[in-house]
Amino acid sequence: SDFPEVAARLVRAIEDWPEAGVTFRDITPLLAAPEGLRATVDALVDAARAFGPLDVVAGVEARGFLLAPLIAEALGIGLVPVRKAGKLPARTLAENYSLEYGEAVVEIHADAVTEGARVLLVDDVLATGGTLAASRRLFERAGAEVAGGLVLIELPALGGRDALGDLALTALLEY
Ligand code: 5GP
Repeated sequence: SDFPEVAARLVRAIEDWPEAGVTFRDITPLLAAPEGLRATVDALVDAARAFGPLDVVAGVEARGFLLAPLIAEALGIGLVPVRKAGKLPARTLAENYSLEYGEAVVEIHADAVTEGARVLLVDDVLATGGTLAASRRLFERAGAEVAGGLVLIELPALGGRDALGDLALTALLEY
């Protein structure tokens, strides 16, 4: 895969955003470039296939929404959004978590998945792991089997992998 080379060139580091001391990894130039988008989709779909049979790809708001549909469509399976609090119209399950900057709640519809469905969680970046861990709890409460997590970028210094315990986690790139 040419993803590592393309991403090294097109993922942009923004110093001191959203607050002093944080280096934000900005994937918008990667997705905006045709060769960046192509390499990203190819690498994500290959990595998703390695999880074995899947029924659903779950995209985490907001940047997971940019990636999860591309994977789900390529695999011919369904797509479920993991949303911030208050956005979903029907009955929801909710989980609180703390993230790198602040506190938050994620939700899915209570009927988003069928019992035993194999779900792959997708987001752009794994930082402290709070978001993905909360997303995993949502799908387990809904009766699904969480096959693993897939992110473009892992920030290992923030310990996200430990926060995920025994969840299988694939990251295409580390910073
Ligand atoms: P965590 O819950 O793992 O601490 O934070 C992960 C969430 O914060 C992800 O949804 C991700 O989009 C966002 N995030 C944290 N740091 C960064 C970053 O450097 N770049 C990007 N693009 N997203 C980040």
